[in-house]
Amino acid sequence: MNEGQNSRAGAAELLAAGFRQSDMSLILVQGTGTVVTASRGAEVLLGCEPEQLAGQYLAQRFSDPGALRRLLADQKTGTVGRVQLEARRQDGKLIPVEVSCSRLETGEAPDAYFMIRVSDIRERQHEDELRAARLAKLTLLNQVSEALYGARLNLDQILQAILVCMTAGQGLRFNRAFLLLVDPSTNSLQGRMAIGPSNADEAARIWQDLADQSSDLFGMVTQYDQSVRQTDVAVNEIVRHMSIPMDDEANIMIRIMGQGHVRRIAGDVDQPGVETLRHWLGCHEFAIAPMSTRRGPVGVIVADNAISGTTITDLDLEFLQMFANQSAGAIENSRLHSELSRRLADLHAAHRKQREDQETLLKMERLSVMGETSAIVAHELRNPLVAIGGFARSLTRSIDAGDPNRVAATIIVEEVARMERIIHDLLDFIRPPKMLRTAMVVDEVVAQVVQKFQPRAQEAEVELVSDLQAENLTVSMNPGEIQQVLQNFLVNALQALDGPGRVEVRSRGVDGGVEVTVADNGPGFEPELVEKLQMPFFSTKPTGSGLGLTICAQIVKAHGGVLRAENRADGGAEFSFILPRHKPEEES
Ligand code: ADP
Repeated sequence: MNEGQNSRAGAAELLAAGFRQSDMSLILVQGTGTVVTASRGAEVLLGCEPEQLAGQYLAQRFSDPGALRRLLADQKTGTVGRVQLEARRQDGKLIPVEVSCSRLETGEAPDAYFMIRVSDIRERQHEDELRAARLAKLTLLNQVSEALYGARLNLDQILQAILVCMTAGQGLRFNRAFLLLVDPSTNSLQGRMAIGPSNADEAARIWQDLADQSSDLFGMVTQYDQSVRQTDVAVNEIVRHMSIPMDDEANIMIRIMGQGHVRRIAGDVDQPGVETLRHWLGCHEFAIAPMSTRRGPVGVIVADNAISGTTITDLDLEFLQMFANQSAGAIENSRLHSELSRRLADLHAAHRKQREDQETLLKMERLSVMGETSAIVAHELRNPLVAIGGFARSLTRSIDAGDPNRVAATIIVEEVARMERIIHDLLDFIRPPKMLRTAMVVDEVVAQVVQKFQPRAQEAEVELVSDLQAENLTVSMNPGEIQQVLQNFLVNALQALDGPGRVEVRSRGVDGGVEVTVADNGPGFEPELVEKLQMPFFSTKPTGSGLGLTICAQIVKAHGGVLRAENRADGGAEFSFILPRHKPEEES
């Protein structure tokens, strides 16, 4: 033998050894159908001892020996033929197999050789089943995403829908599911909602009910409320206890959220938090799936089969993770949606306010035009009224006391006087506020008014007293205007008394300001009128213009103060104003 022949023989031996050890089920047969050699995979599949197949007639190993013979006979070099048969194992059991065969041309040997591969179809059937299960679950995920995104559900409804999908017969089929969400306000993972019956009977009844009522998952989600609400009290009690601080990084749930992968906890897994979870759930095996989006962790779903005791499979986990991702997206979407709705509502409110402001502005513009117009009219009326009044008074004097015309002339005089008063007040009301201010000692300004008013009070038999306690407090004011306010208060008090009585003018320092009060012991006013007293043209007097207090309020407001009207507990009314104290830096 030369060297080349030697190395060829060595390679052939290696090849033969490799063939023998192969896990694939391979059999080398002669054209007669006699087995030359078989791989270990073939021996395992057919349940034979090592080398047991060599020398056997292979067709005998199949339920239809003729079919194998035909396959060999039909095979041309370079082609592969296939047939599905039942192979008989050594123990006599028949298993469905696919036999594929290819003819080998050796060149030297006169006979043909065939390479047969026998594959167990059961494995493929199992794979097909798995594929079908995957497809079914993918279809479900699609339905879930339609249910979660298509409808306008609020956060609670979404959580509920997630839980229904986790446990429904048409869904992921877990017995129970628990949802925990990250709560930024407490920086913790908080149990929010759970679903699951307390026992197997209840479980069967609920899902049967739901399946009867609705054909698809979305229907089930919406039916859920009526059917299941009462039964998941126990699981909701459990979920309420679930609370883990986010900074407890060793805790199994926080870790899984950080890692982003679903996990099945079973057997002797012993990590921080597992025992507590087992205690809460009352079962040993469960799955934890993290829910997160690009913006960060949203929460976790914990699911178990505590009632049926069914093992959680890899496929279950795979879909649980896909489902958790979907759920996280839906939860975030719903949160974003409500955030958006809130902002939209804010925007609407701002828009409404802007419109109102615009309307107010327009109203103010109209009022200002009206004010200017009434000022002109009032001016124009004043002179003719003075003339009418003068003539009417001299006419009255010239008519005899018994003459009926004298009554008419007297009425003209009175009405003209009333009109003059109204015009006087109106002009006061319209006149733009005088802005000149000086720091004045309040008590001095008040004392002057009281002094000037004394004769009028005495004439009306009213005792006018003052109790001025504001000491030397000063207010930056237009003294003429403030005196006008006080005078108005005093006139009103005399009119309210309509005869003898008592009026007291008080002043005192208050927090940051000075208060001046005019109190009388007259009849007071109807409490329900308090809102109206400062409105223009509101008057309970037959000849009142109803502008006095309006002007007072305007002046006080322009001085940065407030005006108050009150009935006194012991009878009578009390009108007061508070003005802010003068701050020396204002003078510059
Ligand atoms: P007018 O004096 O022309 O009626 P005001 O604006 O000064 O207008 O007053 C409005 C109303 O407030 C009065 O008509 C009256 O009903 C009420 N009022 C004012 N002062 C007193 C007071 N001291 N006691 C009771 N009611 C008062």
